[in-house]
Amino acid sequence: RFSAMPERTLPNILVTGTPGTGKTSTAEMVAQLTSFEHMEIGKLVREQQLHDGYLEEYDSLDLNEDKLLDYLEEELRDGGKVVDFHGSDLFPEDWFDLVVVLRTNNTLLYDRLQGRGYTESKVQENIECEIFQECLEEARSQFPEEMIVELVSETADQMESNAERIQQWAEAFMAKSKA
Ligand code: ADP
Ligand code: MN
Ligand code: MN
Repeated sequence: RFSAMPERTLPNILVTGTPGTGKTSTAEMVAQLTSFEHMEIGKLVREQQLHDGYLEEYDSLDLNEDKLLDYLEEELRDGGKVVDFHGSDLFPEDWFDLVVVLRTNNTLLYDRLQGRGYTESKVQENIECEIFQECLEEARSQFPEEMIVELVSETADQMESNAERIQQWAEAFMAKSKA
C-alpha cells in the first residue's frame, strides 16, 4: 500500500505512551530544542477530519487510519517531525528513526488523568494500559528493539532530561547523515 520512504537527512521521531505520560509536553519541548515540527496526532485527527465521527462508547473519535496514514506519509517524507500518539503499530517501520515510549508510575498517572477531568472508568482503563505496558509492547511488536527507547517521565527534571536526550540523539543522527 505504501511506497518506501526515501532516506532522510532529518530524523522522524515517534513519542508514544499511555495518555498522561507526557507525550505532548515532551514532544513540544523536543520540537523547540530541535526546530523540528511537532505533530500531535489527536489534534490533527480532529482538525483535518481524519476520523469517521464520535464513538460514544469510547468517548473518542473513530480514527480513520487510511486517512491518517495518507496524510502523514506526505508530512514525514522530508523528516524533521516529532509525532506524538498513544498508538504505534499502525505506522510502517521505515517512517521513523527513533521510537520513544514514556512511562509513569500509577500514582502520578492517576493524578494526571483525574486532573484532566477523565471519568473514573477512563482513568482506570488508562492505568491498566500502563500497568500492562501495552504501549511498550505495541511498539515492540512493530519496531526493532534498537529503535525503541523507554524513558521514565515522572518529574519536570526528567521531562527536561528526556527532551535533551532526544535532541542529542537527533544531532547525532544528522551528523551521521551528513557524513
Ligand atoms: P500525554 O500527551 O501523554 O497525554 P501530557 O503531555 O498532556 O501527556 O501530560 C499530561 C499532564 O502531565 C500535563 O499536565 C503535564 O504537564 C504533566 N506531565 C507530563 N509529564 C510530566 C513530567 N515528566 N513531570 C511532571 N509533569 C508531567
Ligand atoms: Mn497528548
Ligand atoms: Mn493494534
